[in-house]
Amino acid sequence: LMEVERESGGGVRITSTSTASAPWEDNVDYFIRKKLRVWCKLSSGTWELGTIITTSGKESQVKLASGNDIKVLTTEVLPANPEILEGVDDLIQLSYLNEPSVLSNLQYRYSRDMIYSKAGPVLIAINPFKTVQMHGTNFIQAYRQKLADSPHIYGTADAAYTEMIRDGVNQSIIISGESGAGKTETAKVAMQYLATLGGGGNGIEREVLQTSRILEAFGNAKTTRNDNSSRFSRVVQLASGERSYHVFYQLCAGAPSDLRGKLNIRVANEYNYLNQSNCLVIEGVDDALNFHQLQEALDIVRIGKEDQERMFAVLAAVLWLGNISFQVVGNENHVEVVADEALTTAASLMGCSEQELMLALSTHNIQAGKDSIAKRLTLQQAMDSRDALAKFIYARLFDWLVEQVNKSLEVGKLQIGRSISILDIYGFESFQKNSFEQFCINYANERLQQHFNRHLLKLEQEDYQADGINWTRVDFEDNQGCLNLIEKVPLPALKPLGVLSLLDEESNFPKATDLTFANKLEQYLKSNSCFKGGRGGTFSICHYAGQVLYDTSGFLEKNRDTLHSDSLRLLLSSSCSLLRFFASNMLNQSQKSMGRKDQSAFDSQKQSVGTKFKGQLYKLMQQLENTTPHFIRCIKPNSKQLPGMFETDLVLQQMRCCGVLEVVRIARCGYPNRITHQEFAERYGFLLTEKDVSQDPLSICVAVLQQFNVLPELYQVGYTKLYFRTGQIGTLENTRKRVI
Ligand code: ADP
Ligand code: MG
Repeated sequence: LMEVERESGGGVRITSTSTASAPWEDNVDYFIRKKLRVWCKLSSGTWELGTIITTSGKESQVKLASGNDIKVLTTEVLPANPEILEGVDDLIQLSYLNEPSVLSNLQYRYSRDMIYSKAGPVLIAINPFKTVQMHGTNFIQAYRQKLADSPHIYGTADAAYTEMIRDGVNQSIIISGESGAGKTETAKVAMQYLATLGGGGNGIEREVLQTSRILEAFGNAKTTRNDNSSRFSRVVQLASGERSYHVFYQLCAGAPSDLRGKLNIRVANEYNYLNQSNCLVIEGVDDALNFHQLQEALDIVRIGKEDQERMFAVLAAVLWLGNISFQVVGNENHVEVVADEALTTAASLMGCSEQELMLALSTHNIQAGKDSIAKRLTLQQAMDSRDALAKFIYARLFDWLVEQVNKSLEVGKLQIGRSISILDIYGFESFQKNSFEQFCINYANERLQQHFNRHLLKLEQEDYQADGINWTRVDFEDNQGCLNLIEKVPLPALKPLGVLSLLDEESNFPKATDLTFANKLEQYLKSNSCFKGGRGGTFSICHYAGQVLYDTSGFLEKNRDTLHSDSLRLLLSSSCSLLRFFASNMLNQSQKSMGRKDQSAFDSQKQSVGTKFKGQLYKLMQQLENTTPHFIRCIKPNSKQLPGMFETDLVLQQMRCCGVLEVVRIARCGYPNRITHQEFAERYGFLLTEKDVSQDPLSICVAVLQQFNVLPELYQVGYTKLYFRTGQIGTLENTRKRVI
């Protein structure tokens, strides 16, 4: 039996071979005698196969497969798996679970278009960046009828479905991985499978599938890492090479002429919110065609034509808002709105007068006793208030749309009461420059990782320990420290001590800046080992997936996400019903959270973005906790989005950070099948030929195990349950079926 151990970097390494305590160095002789294959680390850092010729203990002479002989430190040599294990379906079948073995196994499969593999209970999906011939009706049928059993997302979806029916428990399919790793595509494949089970594509299943098209148009955008990345908040500012939400370009490219005329739609290049990043089109993507498909999808989920047009008008309003410009007047740096086509069009699309829009964007009304005083804004303030309004409108439009889709699907909802949830969220991100968005994204991924650890590493082992079976604990990196750093809830009478609470505190403090925020973090959090202060307003967090450097500039503003009371009033009096609805909704929420209904609600702060995000995340995790989870890890094989390219370092880094190898280790020495003494005795007791057995469940269990010669290393007896290695229950079941 091989023993593997965690390295500080999070990987696994071999520490012994035939006995649990002997180090690998002591087994080198065995490998020499038997001429067994080894992995040898070259000075370039890559691993190559070879055989050891001689060893001095510390150093070894290795004959590489390529023909050369080299001398290396024995610690740079690792046992390789026998050829017969090349390309195994499930990493738990590998005799040696070291990094080069795991990588070469995945690469072997990937180069043969086998993009799915198992790592014990986890499905690994490596993005092919091309169409692979393993999806569609025939494959779906094969998995449904259990004719195929090689690792596949269909297999995972089928397991979720089967367990939902069998156990009457809600299921979840949790898909994680870096940006561009293939999560969204994988989620769609899973939905396609479940939709087919649900009846095959005409009723509600077809509608559910169409929702991806809608949600992607409004929720996805091109980033440098992924042409179709699921994200949020990027309406007003874009980085080079990135785009805003697809739907804007689709509208500009695909709106039919009557709609173009009505909403005064131009080409994307004419809008400031779209033309600032030198990136208007995506290779291979036809925005105009996608607009027509979006309309079809909206029809299919029964969003009425009038609602669709209202939606497009709101989108056009956002675009025209972005074109509104200001000119400085007087000598106090105050501004006026330039009266041009942008103002006229935005006002008309927003259902207000030009005058009202101008005032809302360039002045701020302050309540002084019974009077209200209009204060003129500076250029920066005016631009911020315009952008805040645009962001608010888009965010509410998205929420509204999701609600409409859900309402529409309710109509045909089947009364089964059980569900399978598919979770596809933005993956871990680490760019050159990371801002508040990356912080939120990585925070969410940190929580998901905890869920993963809890279910596959912690609970599993706790169960073994609690039931008193003989088990050597597998350690794993617990990320609670990092979560504490982010969200530690303030204790009464103590200072709040997490990034989020410090951020809220600074956001509420009028004189605070991003820099004072960075200093506060340093001051209060420097003792947390997951935190590192930085220069120039930066700080780093050691996430489970690696260290990320965050730039605090913009953190406070993004967290506040304030909408001027003047903008809110403007929307409340709009003749456009959607905008009025967004505004009154917001006012209601604000009044609810303040517990009163008066003027001050207008000026009240909304809940901060960070706090709201945390709440949503808690809710999500609660929902997930009530389901049986099925985990899928998507892996990005290269950073160029190209087919057929497998960058080992990149893959290794993803494998290391996500705890998959630890899961494999537990699964390998673990006991995936467990059954109570009682259940086992009831199910298999009748097979006993020896009738003289004492009638207590445990005695019956032991007698059955003896009769069928189940080897002692293949099971363990706990206080309440029997634990079996893979395959053992299957054998007993077959016997039982034969007898029945
Ligand atoms: P993520 O959601 O993880 O950021 P996506 O699912 O959007 O990543 O995938 C990024 C891109 O990779 C897709 O647009 C597609 O081109 C390609 N891709 C991902 N999964 C597959 C797949 N199973 N087959 C073919 N191409 C894929
Ligand atoms: Mg995605």
